[in-house]
Amino acid sequence: MSLATTTETRCEEHRRYNLEYYHRKKLEDPDYNKKSWAKKKKRLIEEGRYEIYMKARVNAVTTSRARYRHRYLRPDIVKREAVIAALGGKCVCCGYDADVRALTLDHKNGDGYLDRKRLGSKIARYYYTRIDEAKKNLQVLCCNCNTIKSMENKEHNRSRRVHETPQQKD
Ligand SMILES: [Zn+2]
Repeated sequence: MSLATTTETRCEEHRRYNLEYYHRKKLEDPDYNKKSWAKKKKRLIEEGRYEIYMKARVNAVTTSRARYRHRYLRPDIVKREAVIAALGGKCVCCGYDADVRALTLDHKNGDGYLDRKRLGSKIARYYYTRIDEAKKNLQVLCCNCNTIKSMENKEHNRSRRVHETPQQKD
């Protein structure tokens, strides 16, 4: 534990030192970053390492993005699927269950805007730990049934509403 702490502190210190150095140089010369990169690029090209360096840089960015997606976005997908499964895992209207991507969590009373206001896009994250509440407020609908429902209840944007529904359900 002590080792990790010292390494971390040293990294922190190093990072802060670099930042301060950069800002000091940048104050002295507004073009400092461009010039220092040009210098570094020249050196890399001379040493024949430029392409390897750029590749590694791109790699670092893409892997950190992948890591971010995995860490922060992935669990939301898992939670959404778990909530859908807990609510029956299929459209309550037509029974569609072929692809979970085409299933939506629908607010039974059409008060989804309140939740969206309150929770933003974190609806699945919220209901994941409150399945009883989810069963009370939500139902699973496929995208088709969800769109039709919102059109019929006039929740939809006025410009996208159709005059009459072609086939009325009983
Ligand atoms: Zn459906």
